Amino acid sequence: MTEPQTSLDPADWTGLRALGHRMLDHVIDRLARLRHSKVWQPMPAPIRASFRATLPRTGIGADAAYDEFLRRIAPYASGNTHPRFMGWVQGGGNPVAMLTALLEASLNENCGGRDHAGLAVERQIIAWSAEMLGLPTSTGGLLVTGSSMANFIALLCARRQALGAAVRTHGLGGHRLTGYAQTGVHRCVPGAFDMAGIGSDALRRIPTDAACRIDLGALEAQIIADRATGHTPFLIVATAGTVDVGAIDPLPALADLAARYGLWLHVDAAFAALAALSPRHAGLLTGIERADSVAFDFHKWAQIQYDCGCVLVRAEQLMLDSFAQNAPYLSAAPTSAARGLSGGTPWPCDLGPDLSRSFRALKIWMTLQSYGADALGAVVDQTCAVATHLGALIDATPGLTRLAPVALNIVGFRYDDGGDDLDALNADLVADLQDSGEFVVSSTVIDGKRAIRAAFVNHRTVKADADALVAAILAAATARQRPIPN
Ligand SMILES: *Cc1c(COP(=O)(O)O)cnc(C)c1O
Repeated sequence: MTEPQTSLDPADWTGLRALGHRMLDHVIDRLARLRHSKVWQPMPAPIRASFRATLPRTGIGADAAYDEFLRRIAPYASGNTHPRFMGWVQGGGNPVAMLTALLEASLNENCGGRDHAGLAVERQIIAWSAEMLGLPTSTGGLLVTGSSMANFIALLCARRQALGAAVRTHGLGGHRLTGYAQTGVHRCVPGAFDMAGIGSDALRRIPTDAACRIDLGALEAQIIADRATGHTPFLIVATAGTVDVGAIDPLPALADLAARYGLWLHVDAAFAALAALSPRHAGLLTGIERADSVAFDFHKWAQIQYDCGCVLVRAEQLMLDSFAQNAPYLSAAPTSAARGLSGGTPWPCDLGPDLSRSFRALKIWMTLQSYGADALGAVVDQTCAVATHLGALIDATPGLTRLAPVALNIVGFRYDDGGDDLDALNADLVADLQDSGEFVVSSTVIDGKRAIRAAFVNHRTVKADADALVAAILAAATARQRPIPN
């Protein structure tokens, strides 16, 4: 009796090679033609319904599966690779990291631990990140899904620092921890307080000044009030680059305050951390080098493909203290005997919650090797220049009102023809643009007003795209019988 053929590899590689070449041509053509395609289009109902199929017991073959991808998936992607995608704060990715996805998959590295190239590359990226932000060489870190996870990990390190080892075995033990952040803090930060068992109410939302930065006087008063009522203040979460308007909290003053009250200073610099690579904008981040921890994303301004966030902790030991578990089936066993593939401590699985981990570092390493860090700094400058250009254009255009200062790369504004339904009208205009396939912008609320929000994060976007956006908004308003009154 012969053994059944169960390997998923082909007996002859010719067909797979040809399919691979077709795929490669497709992805490169797609990028080359991006500007001439729609940003986004909704998935038609029959195609949507086709994703409610039953489990395929028998395969159709890779060629047919690839045809299905081309027909049912690729045309209905969210469009954030496109130069006219300005919604939320999303990166465009880059062609080198795109190809690197194939290299990464070919190695299929598990970066949870052990002694192999994947971890050497990841440690290099962590060291480069610390260097970029001026943090010391003792800094530890991990690549994670995104800043939501990075903020959560940093919070758990701060919690461990505040309450000692007992918090891991006994929980909060009656301590009423309190943390502090500005009202524009990203929603994942209260979410992290919730997940950590501290409760989202324990994150005090401190009001902001006219420039949307945390009010230092109000912050200090709240810390003092909390102490006086038996709470344990333990953490300040500064935001560098608020998601609504791109404001940066006063980091040096927050570092002073944290030192004075013995609090952990964490900086959520999800996208703005990359400003450190721009000589022109790096000064905005002064003080970040004093943080106990920083969260940021490579998948936003750094143009790395999703998903790719980073947490940095000034004292790597605190990550080990917060996450290391003793499991005999994993350990490098008596440390002295940590040899072979089982060596290579500390393992990333002891620095954070994940055991199995992908080789995210490779796409960053290939990108930085290929283009150099200065090229990413230049993208920061370019996207900020487009935002400044759009801000000036809005100020000069009757019917458009800017709702916040352009601090970095985000512009909040709205169409205002004097009507009494401006919130609904602006929400409609955002949806009109998305449906047209010409632009994706998103919306938010600034000072209680529904705003159109254009965030420039994509390296492909130029000033002419901002000009075209203004024209498209005015045209959409006219189409709704709401032209600008003279
Ligand atoms: C995007 C963002 C986050 C969340 O990051 P993810 O990578 O989406 O998890 C957190 N904070 C700020 C300021 C952000 O811009």
